[in-house]
Amino acid sequence: MKFLARGCMILAPLVLAGCSLAQGSGPASAAQASASEAGMAHPDLWPRYRWPVPTDLVVEAKIAGLIGRMTLEEKIGQLVQGDICCTTTADVQQYHLGSILAGGSSGPRGNDFAPAKDWLELADEYWSASVDKSGGRVGVPMIWGVDAVHGHANIIGATVFPHNIGLGAAHDPALIERIGSVTATEIRVTGQEWTFAPTVTVPQDYRWGRAYEGYGADPKLVASYVGAMIRGLQGPAEEPDMLGRGKVLASTKHFLADGGTDQGIDQGDAKISEAELRDVHGAPYGPAVENGVGTVMVSFSSWQGRKMTGNRSLLTGVLRDRMNFGGFAVSDWNAHGQVEGCTNSACPQALLAGVDMYMAPDTWKPIWENLLAEAKAGRIPMARIDEAVGRILRVKFRMGLMEAGAPSTRALSGKWQLLGAPEHRVVAREAVRKSLVLLKNQGVLPLKPSGHLLVAGDGADSIAKASGGWTITWQGTGTTNTNFPGATSIWTGLEQSFAAAGGTSELSPDGSFTKRPDVAVVVFGENPYAEFQGDRKTLLLDPELSKPIETMRRLKSQGIPVVAVMLTGRPLYANQAINQADAFVVAWLPGSEGAGLADVLVGDQAGRARFGFSGTLPAPWPRTASMADGVQWPIGFGLNYASLQTHWFNLPEITEVNNGGDARLLFSNGVPAPGWSLRVAEGAGASPTRITAVPAMALNGRLAVSGSDFRVQEGARRFAIAGGPAEIALDTMEPVDLSREVNADVMLLVTLRVWEAPASAMLGVRCAGTTCAAGTTLKLAPGAGYVRYGIPLKCFANKGADMAHVTAPLVLTTTGKADFAIGEVRLGTDAEVILACN
Ligand code: BGC
Ligand code: BGC
Repeated sequence: MKFLARGCMILAPLVLAGCSLAQGSGPASAAQASASEAGMAHPDLWPRYRWPVPTDLVVEAKIAGLIGRMTLEEKIGQLVQGDICCTTTADVQQYHLGSILAGGSSGPRGNDFAPAKDWLELADEYWSASVDKSGGRVGVPMIWGVDAVHGHANIIGATVFPHNIGLGAAHDPALIERIGSVTATEIRVTGQEWTFAPTVTVPQDYRWGRAYEGYGADPKLVASYVGAMIRGLQGPAEEPDMLGRGKVLASTKHFLADGGTDQGIDQGDAKISEAELRDVHGAPYGPAVENGVGTVMVSFSSWQGRKMTGNRSLLTGVLRDRMNFGGFAVSDWNAHGQVEGCTNSACPQALLAGVDMYMAPDTWKPIWENLLAEAKAGRIPMARIDEAVGRILRVKFRMGLMEAGAPSTRALSGKWQLLGAPEHRVVAREAVRKSLVLLKNQGVLPLKPSGHLLVAGDGADSIAKASGGWTITWQGTGTTNTNFPGATSIWTGLEQSFAAAGGTSELSPDGSFTKRPDVAVVVFGENPYAEFQGDRKTLLLDPELSKPIETMRRLKSQGIPVVAVMLTGRPLYANQAINQADAFVVAWLPGSEGAGLADVLVGDQAGRARFGFSGTLPAPWPRTASMADGVQWPIGFGLNYASLQTHWFNLPEITEVNNGGDARLLFSNGVPAPGWSLRVAEGAGASPTRITAVPAMALNGRLAVSGSDFRVQEGARRFAIAGGPAEIALDTMEPVDLSREVNADVMLLVTLRVWEAPASAMLGVRCAGTTCAAGTTLKLAPGAGYVRYGIPLKCFANKGADMAHVTAPLVLTTTGKADFAIGEVRLGTDAEVILACN
């Protein structure tokens, strides 16, 4: 690794002698001295790198010529990126937008499940709008960015690779380059030309819900992959015409220390020294720059309390001037709104700090107008605007975009047979094999395919669960196997390899069986999540996902050997399962090629392995959920078929784990989550009655509350209202801040069953301050089962509720006679029925 000024090596939190960042000497002690210096980097203490992309003087002259001809409006347009959710082709034309994106929940024409051809069609439409040269416009082609973070996984039918944590376990940079190359090809089939990948985060706290997006906790491991992935996606930095070569623009993200935030809180604050910032989180940016990464995405998070998106010392001082990054910097999804002194609609600070392009998904218009006004008023120097435009144009020239023509006319476009092509899936399957980490094997593996196999657990036949977040939908929720044509579940792979060798198998998620099995494979683990919805207070598997561990116990008690396969985005406390099972395999989030598991788990007829285990932990495995008891297995641990079998000493099992309260869950199993109360009242403003036990009577006998079965006995609360107005609310004394959920289109999810519908109903929220409430009407009809209704939190925000200070995220008001039950209330994205905001 090219490293460090003055040849010193600092490994956080260990500071070696002789380094200028050591505490108590040099600029770092000055930084500590004054609070106003917090979050200010010292670029001269950072390493320098070589930018490998050759300067082309002809291109430089063209860029200067274009900038000379562009109006201010056209220039501003290059700096702003809207999401396809909220940007029409007419907008692209009128505002000269330089780029669009499709965020995790955006698909062509509002359809997350849109077929591949819709993506290409829409790419042509946006492109045509952008190159309009009428009235003397320069008509710079726009670029379209997507989160192809584990294959082009937004698209139905694409090859879905293991998420990065699994690739980290494989320790194979050459494989990473091939994955990058396949991903580029599949993106080009549907007409996009930019991926917001690779994520080069170096997570230090695996409670973070995005930890799986990173290759691992070891900066050296991550750094060893970065160049390979960038070459796979973009091709060699020295070569021109990325698009002509079937390549795409890459983006390393999120600069910087997204994985270093306190307690692993998403978009949080990295309270770390400059040495740790540089040596742990900065390490992957060396190979990123030296392989010519075209763009860098700036992190939502802060360093020492200062938002990265506004940090000039890092974006300009370090990344641009010291590291010699020669592409352009793009901000993250409305991250500008979080910069000190900014809002979603106004933030010249980001541009001044070094952001070149604003990712302003639904705020692109006010941002465009604000930048224009600030530039006209002289508060943003024209030189800075020209510089940012120049950087973006330079990347566009380097891509070959200026001459590339409409997306559908370019290399690879519309070659649908390449999406999820067999030769691509072969690469993904190899990646799955290499990503598996064996933590325990008491001789049961490899399986002999001659007997009868039972395959159990909720993950056995779920490609969604095997793929995690950022798969077709943003959170990876709401899909079934039918949304993955051409993919293979873990069950299918096992079944096929047993059948091929004359064995038999049966799938039974709950572990019951028709024929006594010789051995069982139980696939369990985390359900899909992305970003902050995956943040946890401890490294505990969500308790509602532990049923398969009971299955393992039951099978064991019947004398059936058990192989546990864990699907997970991170190392988690799973000691009950590890103790129960005869073999324990961590499969991470393997994606669409579940057969890679059978390759390694199932041997030949003689019982010899066909493929060995070669993966090792890319992050430490915890001994307990709180992590207070240290590490069970360190980075680099992993057994293989040659490992000596030793006596198994059970790991400590804790029965009661305090998950510290889960902000997503407000009401379940008939009770409010800790910190929340269930209250009923005559109506808004009337004094409420708190319901702590059932049966209960309230509202002077007009309302009877009882228990009703939902998931578990009396898991819901049933409200029988004799007539008149009634209000049911979940509230808290300490207001909660839901603004980032609002920004991300998270919904309030209410699971209801209706026996008798009220005359009218309203669903709303209350926030601190007496008039701070908002709601929308809810049409209810009697039904035989529970339905999970969702209302986007944005609805309440748009109606004026102060979502940063919510005191009651659920206020259900009704009129007339009614009878209904509430089974669950939580925040999430997986609604069965999305309610209109009216
Ligand atoms: C994420 C980025 C992603 C972007 C666009 C953001 O919320 O942090 O990683 O690239 O959305 O979907
Ligand atoms: C978008 C994601 C984005 C997230 C921001 C979602 O609505 O679809 O792409 O990353 O919001 O947190």
